Amino acid sequence: MKAVKFTAKHIIDSHAHIFPDKIASKATDNIGSFYSLHMCYDGSVSELIKQGEKNHIDMFLVQSVATNPEQVRHINDFIAAQANAHPDKFIGFASLHPDMDDPKGEIERVISLGLKGIKLHPDFQQFAINDKKAYKLYELIGDRLPILVHTGDSRFNYSHPRLMAEVLDNCPYLKVIAAHFGGWSEWEESEDTLCGKNVWVDSSSSMYALSPEKTAQLIERFGYDRVFFGTDYPMWDAADEIKYVERLPISDEHKEMLMWKNLRDFLGLDID
Ligand SMILES: [Zn+2]
Repeated sequence: MKAVKFTAKHIIDSHAHIFPDKIASKATDNIGSFYSLHMCYDGSVSELIKQGEKNHIDMFLVQSVATNPEQVRHINDFIAAQANAHPDKFIGFASLHPDMDDPKGEIERVISLGLKGIKLHPDFQQFAINDKKAYKLYELIGDRLPILVHTGDSRFNYSHPRLMAEVLDNCPYLKVIAAHFGGWSEWEESEDTLCGKNVWVDSSSSMYALSPEKTAQLIERFGYDRVFFGTDYPMWDAADEIKYVERLPISDEHKEMLMWKNLRDFLGLDID
């Protein structure tokens, strides 16, 4: 990759998955086989912190996905414990599952635990973004917490950008981050259906597949203030993800917004 001189004042990684040490490598292997992609790291907290220090990443939005309803509380306790153990570094997002008992109670509980948002993964959790039970969750979450939603997978229909567009139209109160520029492996569909809507997106697991020009076009069309930098830890080499940003044909100020300012403003983070 061509070297370009740009160093962000700060970096916040808006999309990192973490797992307890005991299951980290197995969980990471499972993600790797689901996507048939090589995983760069082992998914542990210690490795995330290590690569963050190496690459000057100041903060991480950390989360994990409950693939069955029974995992929800354990995962949220783990994420909350990690966020409390690293208060200047980690912003924790909670997991919910559309088939769980008492989602209302769990939303109250994760707010009281200090978690700052919800992560949903329709393809891992096997529900369509526009399913009735998903709408029930959106109504319960309302505008109280932002929702990071994995979006796009050309192999399935669960998280298609078109379905996300429908949800955004029906629930204008939601604060949704549609991951992977709103459509992993379906970036054209995302651009056609989601650009211009009331939605935020992240750059994770996308720039490896998109040209710098295409990435810059998506950033401009979604809005310079609506895109967050993310690495999708443990999937990609963080140094590569930062280099993808350096070579983008956008202004340095727009790169600063992408790298940290937008997420600071979106979540009200204390970093300046
Ligand atoms: Zn994710």
